[in-house]
Amino acid sequence: MKIAVLPGDGIGTEIVAEAVKVLRALDLRFEMETAPVGGAAYEAQGHPLPEATLQLARQADAILFGAVGDWKYDKLERQLRPEQAILGLRKHLGLFANFRPAICYEQLTHASSLKPELVAGLDILIIRELTGDIYFGQPRGRRQAPDGHFPGAEEAFDTMRYTRPEIERIAHVAFQAARKRSRRVTSVDKANVLETFQLWKDVVTEVGKRYPDVALDHIYVDNAAMQLVKAPKKFDVVVTGNMFGDILSDEAAMLTGSIGMLPSASLNAGNQGLYEPSHGSAPDIAGQGVANPLATILSAAMMLRYSLNQPEAADRIESAVQHVLAQGLRTADIWSQGTTKVGTRQMGDAVVAAITSTKKTITKG
Ligand code: NAD
Repeated sequence: MKIAVLPGDGIGTEIVAEAVKVLRALDLRFEMETAPVGGAAYEAQGHPLPEATLQLARQADAILFGAVGDWKYDKLERQLRPEQAILGLRKHLGLFANFRPAICYEQLTHASSLKPELVAGLDILIIRELTGDIYFGQPRGRRQAPDGHFPGAEEAFDTMRYTRPEIERIAHVAFQAARKRSRRVTSVDKANVLETFQLWKDVVTEVGKRYPDVALDHIYVDNAAMQLVKAPKKFDVVVTGNMFGDILSDEAAMLTGSIGMLPSASLNAGNQGLYEPSHGSAPDIAGQGVANPLATILSAAMMLRYSLNQPEAADRIESAVQHVLAQGLRTADIWSQGTTKVGTRQMGDAVVAAITSTKKTITKG
């Protein structure tokens, strides 16, 4: 098994180092190879996704990704900006299915911005289509407006589009995921206004007929945004397009206490996956050793489960994370009165210690 390790920029290097430490503590046999990506790759090699990094990612069974981006690259032309690396990897590897679980750990119910009773026991899986929609649709650009309210004025435009097969495959992913959970799928659309999402709704409904054991309901995206803060526990598996999923999954992240807790997996048809925290490179706290590494560590657990076929190892990481939270250890983003504030490295060390102690127990048993 080969893991491509792409730490990237900002806190990316700090949090990935902790996840690598945790993976090493499992005593599994896999090869890990590191390569630059994002701003770090632009500085070193003049491109955010150098050919050698892309080749490594293609050959690997899984990719552990940190985060890319920094405000200092904002003035670069678009194809050289760090964020193009992640978009490029998604496109080149066909990573169309993004899994973002939003789980509120019992110990963190008070870190959420919602009342504890609304989030206690929350366990939602947001499945976001990742390679289509308005982020990739052509044509796009700037021009003089040919018509509209101000003909001749400067305008910018993007294209929202989805083909039937793109919707079918993400719908299948959602229904299959729901079969492993509580057999409920909510499809989020804007079918009342957008052609693209009328097709989305039609196709998801058709695919749903092939999963009679899974309940399907549809909700408009504006209502979904509202319901997520009003009664989040009524959702289980949520499936939606690229842009709506981008926004709703960040909203769901906040329900769990901090974006620093939210892992993600992006899979292609062959189950090769890219695993990364849902947050960005956090330039505001980079280099201070205070970032929460748990989203990245939990992403490594998802990697073991979905791409490397090591579900017990994934369970061990997740239990170790629960254990350190139960011990009262918190990074600054999830800290509250009565808990112990720790830095990035101490949090990683504590997870390693929890894994090592279970290893000793297993060996003794
Ligand atoms: P961000 O997610 O980096 O940060 C948002 C806020 O959350 C900040 O206050 C940050 O300090 C905090 N935060 C994020 N992760 C944290 C962690 N692990 N522990 C503690 N606090 C954490 O989003 P942003 O500030 O909008 O973007 C910063 C850069 O990241 C931009 O260049 C953006 O383009 C990039 N970005 C990259 C990815 C990616 O690599 N997949 C995703 C989103 C944003």
